[in-house]
Amino acid sequence: MNFYVLHNPSSYDTSKYAVTDYEPVGKSNFGDATRCPECGEPISMLPWLPPYRVMLEPWTNRYGDIGFGPYEELLLTERFVERFRQAGLRGLEVLSKAEIVSVKRRGGTRLEGDLPSYFVAIPTLSSTKIDLEASGAEFETPVTCGTCRGGLLLRHARVIVNEATWQGEDIFYARGMPGLIITSQRFVSWHLQSQINSGVLVRSEKYSKNFYSSK
Ligand SMILES: [Zn+2]
Repeated sequence: MNFYVLHNPSSYDTSKYAVTDYEPVGKSNFGDATRCPECGEPISMLPWLPPYRVMLEPWTNRYGDIGFGPYEELLLTERFVERFRQAGLRGLEVLSKAEIVSVKRRGGTRLEGDLPSYFVAIPTLSSTKIDLEASGAEFETPVTCGTCRGGLLLRHARVIVNEATWQGEDIFYARGMPGLIITSQRFVSWHLQSQINSGVLVRSEKYSKNFYSSK
């Protein structure tokens, strides 16, 4: 099974993707972070609670089917959500509609089409684990909790999902590399077929990061 990392296309060829960001407007409400059942450390960001008031920032002349923002939640067009459900894909919790307070143009020419409806949604926090050794992950201090495998991640050479622990989701956050959205091969085929216009998908074996080049 191949897995892929889904991320914001803003650092890629922006003529190819409908790059769209969102920025919460006003003070955001948050719930409690999910904690590791073994060590009690937080294993998610604080969940964003309604109202979902946002400023939409399209960087090209199209509205993106996926809007990326500062939280683990994504903004997804109604088209995305409907097609995802129709395809029987798994791993997405659709919360509720976002209220688009304003649209801030970040580039491109005139925006094509009407402003679509957006839903706030979050990929499942799965118990699927990243194989940190096979991923070449380096931590500041050795990982002590075998359940959440938390710690300050300095860098990784690739992202290898421990397939034996995979719960069958098509889009999810995994244990060991928080904040990284992982998708299945099925999601990638669907993304292409449905002509979802935003979100870069990189083969997980090829996805490396160096967060602290000085350490
Ligand atoms: Zn833990």
